[in-house]
Amino acid sequence: MKNLVAIVGRPNVGKSTLFNRLTQSRQAIVTEIEGTTRDRQYGNVSWNGKEFSLVDTGGWVVNSEDVMEDEINKQVLIAIQEADVILFVVDVMNGLTDLDTGVAQILRKSGKPVVIVANKSDNFEIGFQAAEFYSLGLGDPFSVSSINGSGTGDLLDHIVTLFTKESEEEILEDIPRIAIVGRPNAGKSSIVNSLLGEERSIVTDIAGTTRDSIYHRYNKFGMDFYLIDTAGIRKKGKVSEDLEYFSVIRSIRVIENSDVCILMIDATRGIESQDMNIFTLIQKNRNGLVVFVNKWDLVEDKDNITVKVFENAIRQKLAPFTDFPIVFGSAITKQRILKVMDLAKEVYNNKKRRIPTHKLNEVMLPIIENTPPPSNKGKFVKVKYITQLHNTTVPSFVFFCNLPQWVKEPYRRFIENRMRENWNFSGTPINIFFREK
Ligand code: GDP
Ligand code: GDP
Repeated sequence: MKNLVAIVGRPNVGKSTLFNRLTQSRQAIVTEIEGTTRDRQYGNVSWNGKEFSLVDTGGWVVNSEDVMEDEINKQVLIAIQEADVILFVVDVMNGLTDLDTGVAQILRKSGKPVVIVANKSDNFEIGFQAAEFYSLGLGDPFSVSSINGSGTGDLLDHIVTLFTKESEEEILEDIPRIAIVGRPNAGKSSIVNSLLGEERSIVTDIAGTTRDSIYHRYNKFGMDFYLIDTAGIRKKGKVSEDLEYFSVIRSIRVIENSDVCILMIDATRGIESQDMNIFTLIQKNRNGLVVFVNKWDLVEDKDNITVKVFENAIRQKLAPFTDFPIVFGSAITKQRILKVMDLAKEVYNNKKRRIPTHKLNEVMLPIIENTPPPSNKGKFVKVKYITQLHNTTVPSFVFFCNLPQWVKEPYRRFIENRMRENWNFSGTPINIFFREK
């Protein structure tokens, strides 16, 4: 799992601007959580071949004088629990404030690596004033300007030296990484327990303290893969809104670090908005998908029709992507839990599938010949040649043709469906590109 870097600091110091600068994107995954003052941001940064996840905790802070200090302290405590490195942003134009001093005190006690980012150092003269933040006792401040970008390279150089944990990615063997995801109470812990039994490392009871490895090697019944454990994400009892937020961040990270996701749906509740959010994250990240309808033991009077109705409802909700396996079972009675693992493995293989170029052309060219893209102003699109790209996360195909700009979405979908009929791509997204030769 990648290192997680959290940005903390009082409102208006430039946390969100710094976040955008470091991720260089305004399209990082933004999650909306009810009852908060603004969107929280989560994204990825790649610097000199090192990758890390970045979270801007800014949205936690209720911007009102009387509660602000408490809110900021809470934000800082959670960042300390969750993050590997903390960026403490201060504002050189405003100078040192009491709030900054208070936050510094908490951070000093944490033992976590902290970097003071003296933001708004837009020019050399102002940057000079960053020296006053040295008194916070957290080392040399880094003068940066999130607006014009100056100093951010040095900052990134420094951040990556602070990572103590090696990215697990590098030490894992090349076998499928399968994640169990789903909303709280869907049955994630239960299925992981049923699969791993006693072997599962017991994690501490306090939410947010499971910093152990999340990869469990599962090697039984002819299956060999890593099971990624999101269980324990949310413990029973009262969970503060802030932890809820981090549970979303953790789901995102788990999805990012896996090849195939098993999306657990609670049969007694059907698909709800939280399930849809997770599904969207899976799709955005181009993971493989198997849906496991759990707690099937609790559904009364079920027959084949119940299954069909349920299945159709799920596919309808998740359309237009409908080519994925759905399994009905129970994490507790263990009904079909091996089946779902088997399918996850199959989806993994589908995601890795390579089709020989001659086969591709042999099958697809006649289909296109019979049903060519609709003509536009009397001109015809002619597909000449099809090839599969190398080293892609999901199977990706290029259809070389003249006038690729005229091939519209419905035709692309038609091609995708024909591909899915001819080869097993169940559970995996595929890419279809039309390009000029
Ligand atoms: P946040 O509340 O800490 O997330 O702060 P924002 O990122 O929303 O920034 C607050 C204000 O400071 C905005 O008006 C930004 O344009 C401004 N700001 C952020 N970074 C810089 C900077 O490096 N230089 C200057 N001059 N202004 C900045
Ligand atoms: P998580 O929050 O997704 O990890 O969900 P848990 O594994 O903690 O399960 C939530 C609750 O649902 C617990 O009380 C489980 O005992 C129960 N549960 C989970 N799977 C099943 C199942 O297949 N059948 C039944 N009857 N209960 C289940």
